Amino acid sequence: MGNPKAFLTIPRQEAGYRPVHDRIHDFGEVEQTLNSKDRRTQASRCMDCGVPFCHWACPLGNKPPEWNDALYKGDYELAYRLLNSTNDFPEFTGRICPALCEKACVLNLTIHEPTTNREDEAAITEMAFQENFVRIAQPERNGKRVAVIGAGPAGLVTANQLNLKGYTVTVFEKNEAPGGLLRYGIPNFKLNKAIIDRRINVLEKEGIEFRYNQNVDVTKLPEGYDAYVVCTGTPTARDLKIPGRDLKGVYFALEMLSQQNRVLAGMEFKKDELVNAKGKDVLVIGGGDTGSDCIGTAHRQGCKSVTQIEIMPRPVEGPCDPKNPWPEYPRTLKTTSSHEEGCTRRWNINSLEFLGKDGRLTGVKVQEIDWKPNPEGGRPLMVEKGKPEVIKCEMVLLAMGFLKPEQPKFADNVFVAGDAATGASLVVRAMAGGHKAAEAVDKYLSTK
Ligand SMILES: Cc1cc2nc3c(=O)[nH]c(=O)nc-3n(C[C@H](O)[C@H](O)[C@H](O)COP(=O)(O)OP(=O)(O)OC[C@H]3O[C@@H](n4cnc5c(N)ncnc54)[C@H](O)[C@@H]3O)c2cc1C
Ligand code: SF4
Repeated sequence: MGNPKAFLTIPRQEAGYRPVHDRIHDFGEVEQTLNSKDRRTQASRCMDCGVPFCHWACPLGNKPPEWNDALYKGDYELAYRLLNSTNDFPEFTGRICPALCEKACVLNLTIHEPTTNREDEAAITEMAFQENFVRIAQPERNGKRVAVIGAGPAGLVTANQLNLKGYTVTVFEKNEAPGGLLRYGIPNFKLNKAIIDRRINVLEKEGIEFRYNQNVDVTKLPEGYDAYVVCTGTPTARDLKIPGRDLKGVYFALEMLSQQNRVLAGMEFKKDELVNAKGKDVLVIGGGDTGSDCIGTAHRQGCKSVTQIEIMPRPVEGPCDPKNPWPEYPRTLKTTSSHEEGCTRRWNINSLEFLGKDGRLTGVKVQEIDWKPNPEGGRPLMVEKGKPEVIKCEMVLLAMGFLKPEQPKFADNVFVAGDAATGASLVVRAMAGGHKAAEAVDKYLSTK
């Protein structure tokens, strides 16, 4: 802790986003960066708490007090070593993590101005790549082979950890490129895909083999490996099976998001295959982060308007949720960069029917509802309020989450990690799952 009074005298400063009028016409990252002097000043606010709740809250067990101190002192190399000792890919979490550590930061409890750990992470890692602090490891091989199925964050961490321990690792990936939802879910305006390529380049040089366009049947795993780790994510989106579901214009969120990322990567699609919001009134069903990514993408495609509806009530505003107090992650109202770009947001809205003409969507019949406590306990009861209404739209994006996959009964040498094990979650949790899986594989194979 270099500056013991910094947290009292220096306010939290975020780099913020590019102005809306500037960012809305391109898919470049929306977030800006502070200059290195301001960044180090922000790092100096960390109090090196005796009980660092930031560390407790991070699924990876990141150590913000240690690397914030090194950053404050300008020792970027040490900061990166400390950061990378728990976080394999801080360039991903530094951009898209909801920063559970910041919500649990002691400064969030006392003055609601936590440290800027997420941005600090990104800044340390960018400097590390720029200054060649990211070394290429050449682990000594132990003669054992592991297959990882799926190259999302869980699979990449599993592969990295096992490779560093000396295993010969092959990653089998269904898509034409690695990253999972980092590449084919999260829009480029949150995470530029060159950031993924840069890390894959390091992993390849370190000896991990990637095989793309490999849709592995997990009940018939490829032969010749001592252990397997299934990191296949949550491929099935939750559907909304109400009348009119087959009308043209109703899509799953990922149909749009993954196609847009592929278009930006140079892939071409036939006109009738394009999922594009240009000139359309768009309705996003689902009030979470995937829905928010649809809003930002629809804007950049040139939509006429966007409305986002959510069946649950509007979350409380402000830094804390009394029902879910510090140091837990507060379930408060979140306004993302995409919301700032323009969107009508409504809560307590149930969808009744997709309406259409000549097979094409023209609107959605919805109903305002309320939630009443259930006298028998359990899930609250939904009660209708007022009359149904029609929201006019030519495009609906279903962003209502993903189903938790059922895994078959696997042999003892098969492990499951990431969203495939937990259900849909966060990149940082998937990465932590990769760590645990790698440890379990190592323990299993070390005793063989
Ligand atoms: C639109 C969207 C935005 C999100 N934004 C954020 C965010 O901002 N911050 C955050 O923390 N989290 C975010 N998430 C959640 C986060 O992306 C996931 O929790 C995380 O990617 C899960 O990692 P994973 O490796 O378990 O699975 P995935 O990322 O889903 O990767 C699974 C991989 O396995 C491959 N695969 C599947 N089946 C097979 C098979 N049979 N054979 C071979 N390969 C296979 C898939 O092609 C994929 O590459 C977002 C999710 C979505 C959908
Ligand atoms: S809780 Fe906040 S102030 Fe305390 S050590 Fe962690 S990041 Fe620093």
